[in-house]
Parts: sequence; C-alpha cells; structure tokens
Amino acid sequence: MNLIQIENVSYKYEESKTYALQNVTMTIEGGECVAIIGENGSGKTTLIKHINGLLKSDDGKIFIKGEDASKKTIAEIARTVGFVFQNPDHMIFADTVEEEISFGPHNLGFPKEDIEKRVEEVLSFTRLQQYKDTHPMSLSGGEKQRLALASIIVSHPEILILDEPTTGFDYNSVKDMVQLVQKLKNEGKTIILVTHDMTLVSRLATRAVVMKDGSIIADGPLKDIYENEEILNATYLEQPYALKLSKLLGIETCLTPEEVYNNIIGEAK
Ligand code: ADP
Repeated sequence: MNLIQIENVSYKYEESKTYALQNVTMTIEGGECVAIIGENGSGKTTLIKHINGLLKSDDGKIFIKGEDASKKTIAEIARTVGFVFQNPDHMIFADTVEEEISFGPHNLGFPKEDIEKRVEEVLSFTRLQQYKDTHPMSLSGGEKQRLALASIIVSHPEILILDEPTTGFDYNSVKDMVQLVQKLKNEGKTIILVTHDMTLVSRLATRAVVMKDGSIIADGPLKDIYENEEILNATYLEQPYALKLSKLLGIETCLTPEEVYNNIIGEAK
C-alpha cells in the first residue's frame, strides 16, 4: 500500500488569483526518501502543508496510510507525519532542551518513564546530551535545527517532512544533517525533503519531484532528473559537479564525490 497518496490536489490561497497547486497527483511508498525541488513560489510548501493537514485542498484527495486526511485533525496527522519547520526559532518555546523535546510526547499522552527514555535516546541521536539543561535559544543554528528534529523524531512518526533543514548552514553542519537523516533512512523512516541544498539532495534522495507553477513537471529517479536538460533549464537546477566529472571520466553516472571515488577505486582494484 502507498503510504501517501495525493490525488488531483489543487489549492488557491484566498487572497490570490492564481492556483498555488494545480492537479497535483503523486504517491510515496514507505521507506522512500523523496526530494521536492523547484524554484521559489513553485508550490513546494503549499504541497507539504497539505500532507500534514495544515492546509486542506479545495478539491482532490490525500490519503495517509489509506486514510482520508481531510477527515483528520492536524494533531491526529502529526502522530504519523512529523514536520520539521524551516525556521527552528518558530518551533522553540520551552526553557530547556529537555523540556522542548518532551513537549510533543507529553502532549500525545505517553507515560512519563517512556518519555524520559525517548528523550535520552534522541538527545544521544542528535548529539545534544550536553545541552539537556540549556536554554534552546542559546544554541547555535545547527544545534537548534538538530533540536527541532529531535523534538519531532522523539514521537516516532513514520513519515518525516524536512523543510529546508540546512538553510544558512556551514559545510560541517550540512554533513551532520546528512548523517542524521541517513540514519533515519536506515531505520526505515519515509522522508520528504524540501530543499534548495543540492548537496543534501544528492546524498540522500533517490527520487526527485520537480515542481513549477504549482504543478509537478517531473517525478523520477534523481539521476534521470539531473540528466534531463529541459527540466534543469526550466527550474534553474544545476547538475552536481560529481555528475559532470563522472561524464568527463566516462564512468557510471555519479551524484557525489564519494561515488566518483568508489567508482574509480573500484575499477582500479
Ligand atoms: P515554494 O514553497 O515552492 O516557494 P509556495 O508553496 O510557498 O512555494 O508558494 C506557491 C504560490 O503560492 C506562490 O505563488 C506564492 O506566492 C503563493 N502563496 C504562498 N503562500 C501564500 C499565502 N499565505 N497567501 C497567498 N499566496 C501565497
């Protein structure tokens, strides 16, 4: 069964003349890591807000685990779909990191001992143990984003939506985020990444959904999308250097420097 099924969803903001989403249809299977890409204003945020129930479609249907999302509250959907917002400052309201992380499971009514265990697990997973009693606002940008992720994964949602999780990050923080998301992928989570960060996309996503003017203009394996000049031109996406290099070297198409390295070393062995 498809984990998420979006059927002919269109949406127009009240104050807008044009549709932000037009007849969007797509399905996501359990365990996939899908990148939703496209220029600013192409409809990415509007689409993901439909998946977590923040927006309800004017027409069309969304099913999550086979159930009609329009019949569920945002809180009910949140048990299955965890949403990590773009700006972690908007998610932070507690006085300590520990309290911040406990808030979600506490609201969902998990038993106290269970919450303590889960909080310890995610503190360790996101490497925030030493900040347990720290005020969240005194964390760095990368740490705040890890906290935002921690406060969502602590409730163990099956689906995770990450909206621009690396905005303003330096290289090491991007690497950190790649590693964390990779671990979540390995645990079998279904991940939807909305990002301009092609380093993140190339390292994590296997499939890309490309949006333009509220419609999906391409949906397929990441490598196919990167090789489609028409799509790249229409969306101002740039091929990763690793892909260009692999073409020049005449080796299998690679998306990351590590893949290029493994390909060449693999050949040499
Ligand atoms: P993206 O996430 O790809 O940048 P959005 O989903 O935010 O795109 O926007 C899609 C379209 O909807 C754009 O034309 C944008 O101007 C419009 N839009 C987004 N949010 C609102 C809003 N709250 N009110 C009116 N129009 C909006």
